[in-house]
Amino acid sequence: MSRKDLTRKRFIQQTATSVMGYGLLSGALPKSIFAMGNLHKQGTTDQVTFKNVRMETGFYRDDFEVTGTKTELFSMVIENGEIKAIQPNSDIAGAIDAKGYLLLPAMKDMHIHLDKTFYGGPWKARSKRQHGVRDMITLEEKILPELLKTSTERAEKIIELLQSKGSDFARSHVNIEPTSQLNSLKNLQKAIENKRAVFGVEIVAFPQHGIFNSGSETLMKEAAQMDIDFIGGLDPFSIDGSIERSLDFTVQLALDYKRGIDIHLHESGESGLKTVQYLINKVKENPALKGKTFLSHCFVLGKLEGKVLQETCEQLAEAQIGIISTIPFGHLIMPIPTLHRHGIKVMTGTDSVVDHWSPFGTGSMLQKANLMAQLYGFSSELELSRCLRIATNDVLPLDNNGKQQWPKAGDKADFNLVEASCSAEAVARTSTIKALYHNGKCVYQYS
Ligand SMILES: [Zn+2]
Repeated sequence: MSRKDLTRKRFIQQTATSVMGYGLLSGALPKSIFAMGNLHKQGTTDQVTFKNVRMETGFYRDDFEVTGTKTELFSMVIENGEIKAIQPNSDIAGAIDAKGYLLLPAMKDMHIHLDKTFYGGPWKARSKRQHGVRDMITLEEKILPELLKTSTERAEKIIELLQSKGSDFARSHVNIEPTSQLNSLKNLQKAIENKRAVFGVEIVAFPQHGIFNSGSETLMKEAAQMDIDFIGGLDPFSIDGSIERSLDFTVQLALDYKRGIDIHLHESGESGLKTVQYLINKVKENPALKGKTFLSHCFVLGKLEGKVLQETCEQLAEAQIGIISTIPFGHLIMPIPTLHRHGIKVMTGTDSVVDHWSPFGTGSMLQKANLMAQLYGFSSELELSRCLRIATNDVLPLDNNGKQQWPKAGDKADFNLVEASCSAEAVARTSTIKALYHNGKCVYQYS
C-alpha cells in the first residue's frame, strides 16, 4: 500500500484539532497551552518551536569501523503537523525545551490485535489446555462474547500503552467471524474514532476462524466495505483446507474493494511454502497488489535453506510482498537479515499483548529492535543503529554511510524524544521514551 493510501486516515486526523499535550516539556500544562496560544498561533497555522533537540549528524570512524555517532543540538520548527525547519540551536523565547533528548522517528507497530486483549482488565495467564490454532478458535467462540463487552475501552488502553512506548501508529487485525460478527470491528472503530487526533490505525479484516472453515465469506465481504485497509487470512491449507480456494477468495476481495492483503501464515511445512509461492504468483498476475501484500509470521521462511531460501526471497522481492515478523526466538529463527539483503520489506509488531494467546508483550517496538539485535548478534555501533529500522517502518536518522536523512523539512512531525545519546544506545538499552509527538502534538509524556 502506498504511503499516500496509508495516510488517508491520518489526513483526517490532521484536520482534527486537539489541545492535548501542547508543549508539555516546557513546564506545567496550563501555562504551556497559554504560551502556545499566544506566541505561536497565527491565523490558521499552528507553529511551535523546539530548542535543545539532539539530532544525529554522522558517524565517527577509525580505520576499521564506525566507533560512535555524532550528534548536535538544534532548534526545530513545527507547523501544521509538519517539520517546517531545522535551525542552529538558539534560545528562542517561548520555545519548548527538549532538554538535549535524542530525536527519533515515531515507532510503528505493524501487527497487533487491538480488538481482543486482557490488557486494561484483570491479569490472566494463558491456559495450557489449548494446543494449536484450532483449539484457540474453539476457545474464542466461548470467550469473545464476554471480551466484546469491554473491547472498545481495552483497545483505547492498549493504544495508550503503545504511545508510552513511542508508537503513534498501528496496523491492527480485527476478528471477522460468526461469533463476533462485525462487532469486533465496530467496537474497534469506536476506539479509533476516540483516539483519532492522537494515534493512527489501519485495519486488517481478519477471518480468525477461517474463511470457509467458519463460513465467514459474507461477513468478510461486508467488512471489506467498512473502511478497512487490508483483507486478512489464516493458514489457507490447515484451516480452510485449500490454498487455492482460500487465497483466490482473499485476492479477489482485495481487488474488488481496492484493499491490501495481510495474511497470517503459521504453516511451516510444504503447505507453507506452497502458500507463499501461490501468493507470489497471484500478485504477479495482479500487479495492483504489489507493495500492498504482506505475509505475517511466515514461519516457513525460517525452515528454508540454501537455494530454496534464496529463490523464495528473490520472488518475494520481485512481487514486492512484505514480511511482518514478531521476531520469534527459540525453536525457530526467522532469516530477517537475509530478507533485508534481498530488499524485502520487513516490519514487526507486538501481535498479542496480554491476551488468551500470550501473557507477554510490552507494546514496545524498541524492545523488538533490541531483540533483533540480540538474536542476530548485532552489537556494534553501526549494526545497533540499523536495527532501529524494524521499529520505525524503515525511517532512520542516518543512512548506512552516516549521512543525515531524517528529519528533513516537510517530514511529518511524528517523533520521539528519547533519553539516549544515539540510536545505537536507544536500541541496546531500550531507552526511556520521554515524549511522543504525533502530527506535531505531544500525545505522551513520561512522568
Ligand atoms: Zn496476529
